[in-house]
Formats: sequence, structure tokens, C-alpha cells
Amino acid sequence: MAFDSLAERLQEAFKKLRGKGKLNESDIKEAMREVRLALLEADVNFKVVKTFVKNVSEKAMGSEVLESLTPGQQVVKIVNEELTALMGGSEAKLNFDSSITAFMLVGLQGAGKTTMAGKLALYLRKRNRKPLLVAADIYRPAAIKQLQIVGKQIDIPVFAMGDNVSPVDIAKASMEYARKEGCDVVIIDTAGRLHIDEALMEELKNIKSSVRPMETLLVVDSMTGQDAVNVAESFNNTLDITGVILTKLDGDTRGGAALSIREVTGKPIKFSGIGEKMNDLEVFHPERMASRILGMGDVLSLIEKAQTAIDEKEARELGSKMMSKEFNFEDYLKAFEQMQKLGPLNKIMEMIPGMNSKELKGIDMDDSEREMLKTKSIIYSMTLKERRNPKLVENPSRKKRIAKGAGVTIQDVNKLLKGFENMKKMMKQMGSMQKGSKKGFLGK
Ligand code: GDP
Repeated sequence: MAFDSLAERLQEAFKKLRGKGKLNESDIKEAMREVRLALLEADVNFKVVKTFVKNVSEKAMGSEVLESLTPGQQVVKIVNEELTALMGGSEAKLNFDSSITAFMLVGLQGAGKTTMAGKLALYLRKRNRKPLLVAADIYRPAAIKQLQIVGKQIDIPVFAMGDNVSPVDIAKASMEYARKEGCDVVIIDTAGRLHIDEALMEELKNIKSSVRPMETLLVVDSMTGQDAVNVAESFNNTLDITGVILTKLDGDTRGGAALSIREVTGKPIKFSGIGEKMNDLEVFHPERMASRILGMGDVLSLIEKAQTAIDEKEARELGSKMMSKEFNFEDYLKAFEQMQKLGPLNKIMEMIPGMNSKELKGIDMDDSEREMLKTKSIIYSMTLKERRNPKLVENPSRKKRIAKGAGVTIQDVNKLLKGFENMKKMMKQMGSMQKGSKKGFLGK
């Protein structure tokens, strides 16, 4: 699948960072070296790689990251934002005319233009447009026939005038035909060559000036990597394209073209082709592509949620309290409340990458939520004195009173006490381990 090998390399680089509580500059340098190599190996344009790594490094070296509670995740967040920006930031929508809209597809032979013309027509029809396909490739044998077959397959009309009429005239006539037939979008499939040549470019320029398309979309084969980028650069220089469509992304494990084209040409990627079938078309969403490359699930929303829901200072104080001897039921309650601020447990779990529904099935979320509620109500039934001094709760008559107040059994109270003691023990161990390594709780 798309970006597989790049995704693997990058995720490997970040795994090392994620495991660390605190980062220093050399950790980041090392990670950036790996990011650089991964991108070069993915066939990303070297100038793009250079700027990218520079931007990420500058942001990652900032004190905000180095001193945060989750520096590894912050670095991944920066990489994700920069990858998104590199691919254009957000979805680039198609532009339409108030009357008949013309879209012109250009590109080298074999890039997937004819297939894309059909996919686009189908996509537009699903959005209540009335597309017309136009066969303006009069050179390649059977090109006209191929478009007619595509049209038939998806039941979309195809305008053709044979191969004895000039492509400029065909394009012009197609606009007239569309008007007569009540079509509102004309998709012109132009000729491609194996290589860029002057005559072809001249012809495309003429078609463009005669029909004034709203979009001149360059179709490139993503599997050709940097060649695709070079092709995009020269088509853009002569034709001033309005956008790029990347085909065969399903077979592109490296992703170099996808990551370089926008930066090199300044033109957005609007769609991607992800298979040979007419439905295999995707709107290009830079942010989703970036998350996919980083194998992130929706971890970004999770980080953002945690950042807004939990106060860092509070979390740190609670962390050190948890490891101290004074840790009591009041703190326990606070910890619960912080967790609950993030939202329902199952929603949190869903956002964690790798936690797919299969793994989640084994855990009864409602059960965990119920347990949490029960624990809270037991603590609420304690007096302030009891909360601050958990030893008091061991007294049987107090236990009985608390259980009654919370509407639970004495066994439930015992379970809570046991869980609390275990947690305290664990925290104490963690505390001494971290003291040894001169690191505090949560990396502080
Ligand atoms: P054209 O010469 O630019 O018109 O290219 P075609 O539309 O004839 O496509 C060339 C070949 O690429 C055909 O065999 C298509 O089935 C195939 N193709 C086109 N788009 C995709 C895609 O997104 N994924 C895959 N796997 N194959 C594609």
C-alpha cells in the first residue's frame, strides 16, 4: 500500500523517541538524521528534504518540546504538521464555472489520464453534476475507443470526432455539444507522449486558450517518483496547471512524488488514483495522508485533548504526590477525575494507534466505566479524615458505613483498599527507580 516503507522507517525512528521521558538535542538530531534518510530513500526531492528537516529540527529543539511531559509525542506532532503543510495543508477543491465548466487532463502517456477522466466523471456525477467526456487524443491508436469503453462502463456520454479533426476544434465543439445536451462539466482527455515535446505542449496550450478550462489538471504516475516531479515542473512551467492528480498511489510504497510535488511546483494535489477500477479515486487530504504516513490513528486529537483537558502543572504535582508516602484517597480521586476529563474510556482507547476494534473487543468498556464510578462513589462516602488517612478505613465499622453510603458491598470497599495499596506500592517502586536514574515521574 501507499507509503508503506516510508511509514515503517519513520515510525521506527520515532519509537526510540517515544520511549524516552526527556529528550535532549542529540536525541532530536539523531531522530532527524533518520527522518532525513527515510525521506531520501522514499525518493523525496533532496531540496524538499533539506527544508523539511530544517523546519522540523528548529521547532523540535524549542524548549516547549524539550521540557514538555511528552517530548517524543510533541516531535511526532511537529513532523505531522510539517508533512501536512508539505502536501498543501488542506484539501484543494475543484473550481467550477457558473455555466459550463471545462476540466482539461494533461500528462504523459501511460500516466492514467484516460482512466482518471472516467473516475472523475463518475465522482462528479455522484455529486449531481452532468459530465461529458471528450476524446481529444487523436494520435494514440485506440485512445478514442478506450475512452468510449470507459464512458460506456460508467454510463457517461463521450464526445468524439474521430482522428481527423484537430484537438483544438474537438475541444471547442465539445463545449457546444455539452450546452445542447445539458451537460455542465466537460472533461477533456488530451494526448500524451512518452516524453515531453514542444509540439505537444504547443497543442495543449492552444486547447487551453480556446476553451479556458477552470482546471488544467496534470495526471502523473506516483510510482515514477522524482520523474513525476520533473514532469510536473515542466508541465507547470509551460501550461500553468491548476492542480495535480497522482495516480497509482496504491502501488507506491515510497511516496516521494506525493511529498515533493506541491513544494516543487507550488500547485496542489487534488486527487489520487488508488486502483484500476472506476471507484478507485480519493480526494487528496494532506492531513490524513500525513497521519497515515506516521501510522498515527487519531493520536493527534488525543494529544490535543490531553493538552486542553489536563493542566501540566497539576499533572506533575499529582505525579510526585502519587509516589510519596502521603498519597491518599483525595489524590486518588483527583487522578480519576483527570482521566475522566479526557472523555469516555472507549473513545480514548479508539484514538490510540494500534488499538483496533479487534483488541478492544476483549475489554468490556462499560464495565471499566462502572468500576470507575463505583470507586468514586466509595471515596465520596468517606469522611475527609478518612480520605486523607487511608489507614482509618481498615476499621470494620467505618468500612460498613462507607459501603452503605456508597450503595456497595463491604467486599467492594476491600477491593478498593487492596487496589489502592497495590498502586501505592507500585508508585513507590517507580519513585525509587526514577530517583536512581535522576528522572522524576512523567519524565520530570
Ligand atoms: P493514459 O495513457 O495516461 O491515458 O493512461 P491509462 O488511463 O490508459 O492508464 C494506463 C494504465 O494504468 C492502465 O493499465 C490503467 O489501468 C492503469 N492505472 C491507471 N490509474 C491507476 C491507478 O490509480 N492504480 C493502478 N494500480 N493502476 C492504474
